[in-house]
Amino acid sequence: DYERAYEDRFLPATTVDGVNIEVVANISSSSQVEDTLEFGSEGVGLFRSEFLYMAHPQEPTHEQQVAEYKAALDAMATENQPLIVRTLDVGGDKPLPYLAMPQEDNPFLGVRGARLSLLYPDMLKRQLRALFEAADRGLLRVMFPMLSDITEWRAIKEIYNEVADEFPGIQLELGMMIEVPSAALMADVFAKELDFFSVGTNDLTQYTLAVDRGHPVLSKQADSLHPAILRLVKTTVDAAKRNDIWVGVCGELAADPLAAVILLGLGVRELSMSQTAIPQIKAQIRSIDSSEAKALATAALEAESTEAIRALDRTGVTA
Ligand code: PEP
Ligand code: MG
Repeated sequence: DYERAYEDRFLPATTVDGVNIEVVANISSSSQVEDTLEFGSEGVGLFRSEFLYMAHPQEPTHEQQVAEYKAALDAMATENQPLIVRTLDVGGDKPLPYLAMPQEDNPFLGVRGARLSLLYPDMLKRQLRALFEAADRGLLRVMFPMLSDITEWRAIKEIYNEVADEFPGIQLELGMMIEVPSAALMADVFAKELDFFSVGTNDLTQYTLAVDRGHPVLSKQADSLHPAILRLVKTTVDAAKRNDIWVGVCGELAADPLAAVILLGLGVRELSMSQTAIPQIKAQIRSIDSSEAKALATAALEAESTEAIRALDRTGVTA
C-alpha cells in the first residue's frame, strides 16, 4: 500500500535477487529538485529545459541559464546523483513566443526538438555553453530530443563539438531520447555514437500507434503499455547492450507499476517519472525477482494487445 511504500521511499529499488534500478524524477525547474528527493528520487532523469525558456519573455541570458543548471545540481543530496538535462524541446505542440517557427500543417511531424535546434544552431550553442559552465557542480548529462536519423545526430554532434572545444578538459555524457520509431529501429546505429538512451514513451506511442497524444477522443487509445511499444523498447535495449550503453525510460509508462516490472525485465536500468509515483515504483521493484520480471516481459512481448498485457499477473501468467 501507498503509506508503506512512502515510508520506505529512501530504500533503493533493488529486486529480491539484487538487480538495482535507478529511480529518478522528471522536472521542469531546478526548484523542484529538493521536493523530488523528498519523494525518494535518486536524481533527475529528465529536466525538460523548455520550461526555462518559456519562463522568460525572451531567450534566457547566459547567466540565467547557468544559474538554473547550477541550482539544480547544487540541490542534489550527493555529488553522484545525476541531472539529465534535455536540450530545448519545442515545436510541435509547444510554441515559444520569441522564436519564429515555420507554419506547418502537421507540427508533430515538423520542425520540433533537435530539428529546431538545427534551424537555430546558435541557440543550441548558447544552451550547451551554459551546461558546460555548470558541469563542475555535479553529475551532469545532456540528452537530445526527437532525433529520427543518424545524420541529424551527426549534425547536432558537430555543433556540440564546436562548443566542447571552448571547454577543454570537460567531457559530458551525451544521450538521446528514443521517441521516434525510426530511432528505436536504428538503435544499433545510434548506440555506437551515444553514451545512453532514454525512451520517451509518450511521443514514441503517438508516433508508433499514429494517435495524437493529446487527442480529445483518441488519446485513451494511446496507452503506452502496447506490445508494439514494448517490442521497440526491446530492440533499443538489445542494441544498447551490444554496444555497452544503458537505457532508461522517461515517459509516463515508467510510472505504471506493471509496466515498470516489464521494463525491468526487458533490461531497462533507469526509470524517470513524476515524483509522486516514485515510492510505489520503488516498492514494486523491491518486491520482485528479476527472473519473474523477465518472464513477464517475455509474455508481454508475445501478447496481442494492451488488454492482454494488463490481464497478466506479475509473473507473466494470464490471471
Ligand atoms: C516523451 O515523449 O515520452 C517525453 C518524456 O517527452 P515529453 O513528454 O516532454 O515530450
Ligand atoms: Mg517527447
